[in-house]
Amino acid sequence: MKKLLRSIFWLLLVALIIVIAILILNTVNYASKQAHYDQVDPIAIPEGAISRLSQVVQFPTVGHETSIDTAAFQNINQFMVENYPMVDSLMEPLQINEFSSIYKLRGRNVDLKPILLMGHLDVVPVDEMSMEKWTVPPFSGEIKDGYIWGRGTLDDKIACFGLLEAMELLLQKEFVPERTIYFAFGHDEEVGGKQGAVTIANKFRNENIEFEYIMDEGMLILEKPMTGLDQTTALIGIAEKGYTTLTLTVNLDGGHSSMPPTNTAIGLLSKAISKLESNPFPAKINGATAELFQHVGPEMTMLNKVVFSNLWLFKGILKNKLSETPSTNALIRTTTATTMIRGGVRENVLASQASAKINFRILPGETIETVKAYVKKTIDDDRILISENKENFSNNPSAVSNTDCFGYKVIQRSVKQVKSDVLVAPALMIAATDARHYQGLSDNIYRFLPTQIVKDDLSRIHGIDERISRESYEQIIQIYYQLILNSCK
Ligand SMILES: [Zn+2]
Repeated sequence: MKKLLRSIFWLLLVALIIVIAILILNTVNYASKQAHYDQVDPIAIPEGAISRLSQVVQFPTVGHETSIDTAAFQNINQFMVENYPMVDSLMEPLQINEFSSIYKLRGRNVDLKPILLMGHLDVVPVDEMSMEKWTVPPFSGEIKDGYIWGRGTLDDKIACFGLLEAMELLLQKEFVPERTIYFAFGHDEEVGGKQGAVTIANKFRNENIEFEYIMDEGMLILEKPMTGLDQTTALIGIAEKGYTTLTLTVNLDGGHSSMPPTNTAIGLLSKAISKLESNPFPAKINGATAELFQHVGPEMTMLNKVVFSNLWLFKGILKNKLSETPSTNALIRTTTATTMIRGGVRENVLASQASAKINFRILPGETIETVKAYVKKTIDDDRILISENKENFSNNPSAVSNTDCFGYKVIQRSVKQVKSDVLVAPALMIAATDARHYQGLSDNIYRFLPTQIVKDDLSRIHGIDERISRESYEQIIQIYYQLILNSCK
């Protein structure tokens, strides 16, 4: 017996030593994926750039499904014509559905695939309730404390006008690209993109254009974007989650509440919602999120480095840890959010119908169909009718774009040439962008708004006191300038 115990002890000790050796070996061999580029001298950004952004914020280009403020959209388009003379005379502009625009600058070499840089001109509304909480009126475009304030500064006028500023500067220097470059600015991104991005993408499809890469708004450059990562990191969205809403409905006989049956419509519906919430979709570290960890893992503090270089052992622990915070939970699974509920007409009448809307953000690799199947299996109750909500758009997750290709590398290089100490890493975009409509027009579609903003300013996007610092706006112009130069010379 003693001999057996001793053998087991030795066996376990050897196993432990082997595991520790593997952990150390993997950690030591965990090589950085960061490329090095020398920083370039900053270009002089004209003072007028700041006031031009301030002026375009003053056009209240609020996106609505039905009637929009056409004067605001006309004015912003007119502003582009009047304030970017080189762009207006040397690029070929084309209006799409009145208020969206395509700009094209023909390259010398027709054998090179063109590139497409995108933004959107519309903004989300400011609700009346929050109006008084704003430090300055939301469409004032006030320049104050080193910031340009107002709805649309971050989302997404800095993209459209940052691109125009960069191109205007390049054209003033007689820039002639080798590769053809397109800009596309939609005017209804915030309400689904039908008039803008969808129409523009179809036009490109009809012309059989294939882009070398496409870059739309998306992720940002953030300071310490996750626990264990102390460096400022540019997160480049290489994939986008899908989107669908399912309606759960229970129909039962109504009746008097003095003689209720065991199960009411509202009770059954609540149970179904509860089942969905307590059985989240399975966590997966794959695709864009796996790539994120491969790129930031080697740059992390030692303990985290051990974990990320040894996912064969720590994957389970990591998934649990990531599941604890909503922002990281969204990176590793399809999320379930009950957003609306309806049922009942009076306190003493049994509801004959109860319904709820559940919004799902779908992880790449899964589909609307797999989500429906999972929901049906989890609820496991035929009294709950499950239907897809067709009022709003639904779409499957995007494909995952490459990181080992010209597009990704040229974005990485442009960021590092402007700020050499920034890490660059691919990541999963958890919200929807216009880029989803461009699927198939390029293998390499990125969602990245190339500027650094502080975390506090993130919540201002679609929120109160949206603003951008003067430095951040100058930075985005600098990076777009490098990006156009690097992509097209
Ligand atoms: Zn946006």
